[in-house]
Amino acid sequence: MVGLPLKGGCMCGALRYEMSMPPVMIYNCHCTNCQKISGAAFNTSVIVAEAALRFTTGEPARVEWVSDTGTTRCGLFCGACGTRIVNGGDPSTGVYSLRAGTLDDTSWVQPVGDTFTSSAQPWVTFIEGGLRAERQALDYAPFIAAYRAQGRF
Ligand SMILES: [Zn+2]
Ligand SMILES: [Zn+2]
Repeated sequence: MVGLPLKGGCMCGALRYEMSMPPVMIYNCHCTNCQKISGAAFNTSVIVAEAALRFTTGEPARVEWVSDTGTTRCGLFCGACGTRIVNGGDPSTGVYSLRAGTLDDTSWVQPVGDTFTSSAQPWVTFIEGGLRAERQALDYAPFIAAYRAQGRF
């Protein structure tokens, strides 16, 4: 079992955070936004309630943009070293997508599937036996259920 709070931070240590609730779900997102933001093939998204995330050291810098669906999204990052902690957040729903690699302990992280597979790099291997969505999942309930079934918390 994984203990709470979960802890993590940026590369330089100016930003530290704690998460008081277990993630809602974890999956790999291959959308072009995630590819740009991470500079990598995909982002491992740890979906958390905004209310569960608290910065214990430092104040994150913030970037905002309007998504394809017209909602305002925000990202939180370290102003000193540039590490992005919150990949994307939707202030209207109170849900954040946290970047898995910023957790101190990532040994328990197991994504349940892949989203935006239509824009995935051709050499990427998807999660074996995992859930898949060509774009955004129309219904995240199966992702949430699969994550709960891992029984890590
Ligand atoms: Zn930093
Ligand atoms: Zn994405």
